[in-house]
Amino acid sequence: MTAAPTTSAQPAGTAVAEAARRRTFAVISHPDAGKSTLTEALALHARVIGQAGAVHGKAGRRGTVSDWMDMEKARGISITSAALQFEYRDAVVNLLDTPGHADFSEDTYRVLTAVDAAVMLVDAAKGLEAQTMKLFAVCKHRGIPIVTVINKWDRPGKDALELMDEITERTGLTPTPLTWPVGIAGDFRGVLDRRDGSFRRFTRTAGGATIAPEELLSAEQAAEREGDVWRQAEEEGELLEATGAEHDQESFLGGVTTPVLFASAVSNFGVGALLDVLVDLAPPPVGRPDADGAVRGLDEPFSAFVFKVQSGMDAAHRDRLAYIRICSGVFERGMVVTHGRTRRPFATKYAQQVFGRERESVDLAYPGDVVGLVNANALGVGDSLYADRPVTFPPLTTFAPEHFAVVRSRETAKHKQFRKGIEQLDSEGVVQVLRSERRGDGSPVLAVVGPMQFEVATHRMEHEFNAPVALDRLPYTIAMRTDEASLPLIASSGGVEVVQRTDGELLALFPDKWALRMLQQRHTALTLEPLVAAQ
Ligand code: GDP
Repeated sequence: MTAAPTTSAQPAGTAVAEAARRRTFAVISHPDAGKSTLTEALALHARVIGQAGAVHGKAGRRGTVSDWMDMEKARGISITSAALQFEYRDAVVNLLDTPGHADFSEDTYRVLTAVDAAVMLVDAAKGLEAQTMKLFAVCKHRGIPIVTVINKWDRPGKDALELMDEITERTGLTPTPLTWPVGIAGDFRGVLDRRDGSFRRFTRTAGGATIAPEELLSAEQAAEREGDVWRQAEEEGELLEATGAEHDQESFLGGVTTPVLFASAVSNFGVGALLDVLVDLAPPPVGRPDADGAVRGLDEPFSAFVFKVQSGMDAAHRDRLAYIRICSGVFERGMVVTHGRTRRPFATKYAQQVFGRERESVDLAYPGDVVGLVNANALGVGDSLYADRPVTFPPLTTFAPEHFAVVRSRETAKHKQFRKGIEQLDSEGVVQVLRSERRGDGSPVLAVVGPMQFEVATHRMEHEFNAPVALDRLPYTIAMRTDEASLPLIASSGGVEVVQRTDGELLALFPDKWALRMLQQRHTALTLEPLVAAQ
């Protein structure tokens, strides 16, 4: 079979028109800021699920859609990443899920290559936390515009103006609040909508399980009802105005300012406002630059890249899924596209929309959309797919690992399963696999950014590939890129090891920065370059 040119039956211009109504984003936050709760609330608001609790399940709540591994359930963290799509007003919203735990930040970074905007969710009591800051830095680096949501305003927390100062000082972004809280954190009466001066009154519903009615009142009615508390909000609003904290679309898209909303995700308050802001202000997909910097326009033939590969999601679907973000053209299920890396045809007969355990066939998709391709055994993270005109998108960054361990099979008879499992985890990006002649094929080195990735690898090797493994931690903490010419000198110095990553990079592993510095001082001509750090 050859990759027959697949001309779309869709009218010309469809891709451009459909892209214009797409909003593809992810929520970035520190664990516990309320990301799962907000995701539920957004979905509920768009009425894709009947009752909050059906999408994300944690202890005490119904359903466990995104909690697919026992380990994940036991820890109450979300390791999987997928996309939730729903219509809101005349827009199509793609919400990409990101893992909450810092050890899986590499996964989160890859998801951020596939979005056009991000929502930075901040716990009102805790302010900007470590993980929020790291993810923020990635968004800034990638030029992703950020909408900030201050969550949990129904609980005691910091002062609103203080939070604005914290955002300015720590992120360098100027916050431009679109809404302003009426009542301090813990005494949430509602928000002053700075765009029209109205009052959106907050009314509680039991457990936030239904959409909270937001009563809309005029400024006069609000003053009558809330008295001093309303007046204080108005005064603070004037203060903000005087300091120039006003929304400006160009500054927002340019990463200079961030619109801010106040919310209580658990009571669904502020969620509709967030959807409106995403539809009204967040950017739609635009043409994506290829590896040479030339832009592939939205109206060009289909193209996409793989930003996540996942398998063994649950017992009922033991298969390998590659998530692609569509960059141009129209995707039609069944079309035969070309896999850029191998130049081989790839049939898209089994294309699905996946969110946790929920799967649905996708027949048509457009730029900005995420499609899960089933049985995508040949596809790896970062690969490009295209129809008609070839394109190669820039490779996704792999981060500098900080933890290393030798892996070996606990049962010698299972070397085949062992090999297959390691290969798969490597191409999914669960771990980086480093090899050397000295170590041999049977005991490569696994390298990770966060140690919990080791646990996932060990668990999956045993339960999914039926190849129980043992890991022996190695004393290295730093990996530097090197070259053939530097090899003999590096190899001859004690405590340092040279290995080759699957993508061909030669890496020198050092126990600490002193060992690295010593070698660099002794041999100044050596090639030793840092890899991209994950923080
Ligand atoms: P995640 O780790 O960021 O996904 O956080 P979760 O959505 O699991 O929320 C962490 C905890 O905060 C849970 O107990 C939620 O019920 C609670 N929570 C989330 N949003 C709010 C909120 O707006 N107000 C209050 N009081 N609690 C919230």
